[in-house]
Amino acid sequence: MNFISTLAILVLLNGLIGCTQDSKNHLIQFNGSTMGTRYTIKIIDLPSNLNPDTLAKEITQQLKSINHLLSTYQADSELSQFNQNPSTDWISVSSPLVTVIQKAQEISALTQGAFDITVGVLVNLWGFGPHLYQPSIPTPAQIQAAKQKVNFELLDIRDSPPALKKEQGDMYLDLSGIGKGYGVDQIAELLASKNIHNYLVDIGGEERIKGHNSKDQPWKIAIQQPRAGIPKAAYTLERTSGAIATSGDYQNYFDYKDNRYGHIINPKTGWPTPYQSASVTVLSTTAMEADALATGLYVLGIDKAIALAEQSQIPALFIIQSEQGIQKQASSYFPYNKILK
Ligand code: FAD
Repeated sequence: MNFISTLAILVLLNGLIGCTQDSKNHLIQFNGSTMGTRYTIKIIDLPSNLNPDTLAKEITQQLKSINHLLSTYQADSELSQFNQNPSTDWISVSSPLVTVIQKAQEISALTQGAFDITVGVLVNLWGFGPHLYQPSIPTPAQIQAAKQKVNFELLDIRDSPPALKKEQGDMYLDLSGIGKGYGVDQIAELLASKNIHNYLVDIGGEERIKGHNSKDQPWKIAIQQPRAGIPKAAYTLERTSGAIATSGDYQNYFDYKDNRYGHIINPKTGWPTPYQSASVTVLSTTAMEADALATGLYVLGIDKAIALAEQSQIPALFIIQSEQGIQKQASSYFPYNKILK
């Protein structure tokens, strides 16, 4: 049975989560669905006191709670309840919700409103929210009306007791640009709390890593070519710690009358950022920060984004797919020496 023990053994838990063990390489891997996308968690050298099935259930539970906290796709999530509440008084919320929104507001200030979670009304108007719409172009009047509700400065935060206050009752917060990153961080912290020292956590491309892979080498992170279709790596980056997130327009868009419209909206214009088959990848200590920064830098566009990344010491890499091939531009803080391809 040595043969079997060195091959991957697939165990399906609850039909929701896949758990693969490769005992030769001390690798255990969990896969599943969450937040409208897929997640993968790789662990090397699981401590012997931990049971993989129990850990899988804890991970599933943690992800469920995060969805219940941050999802606009669940009508009963804490965020949806806040969005549905028309009050302009302080509304009590949980401390984790305040933590995520505080980080969002910090990135909004840094990117001068390019990242802005109050953009939700515009996201929904353009058909990229949780409700199914026939893709179409909103009228100027609709965009103008929606823009009145978009400005991160219309949202106040209180730490203790935790509460939020919106200046207009029909504002709509959308945490899809930061929530996957928060989820990645929460799972990473769960693993670290169990003395797991070598892991990779990925939710829909936002990742956090620690230690080494099954070959005792740094984790190898693929940065995709920013083009529609089957994902293909443009570059591979070696990392032993920290987080990485990528935002782009090449996966989530619609075509209408010869034009392509992506899901990342410029809160200032009310329009999707001009489609250019591009992506920006950001490194940070937390996935939540990398996730939000990547979206914000994408909205700013390459010149302003690189200038901000230089000024604020952000490791950022832009990739643009043109007919001539791939062009890239990075801030000087991006670790070029760790790129393998
Ligand atoms: P990112 O660049 O990380 O984020 C882009 C998203 O942020 C946009 O789609 C929009 O929602 C929002 N956004 C657009 N412009 C801005 C801006 N200027 N500033 C800030 N935000 C902006 N999707 C489903 O289809 N089904 C689900 O059940 C589902 N559940 C989810 C639950 C949670 C908790 C979260 C966080 C997301 C969920 N999603 C779901 C959304 C899905 O994961 C999104 O497509 C994804 O989060 C967008 O990630 P991205 O990496 O493609 O783009």
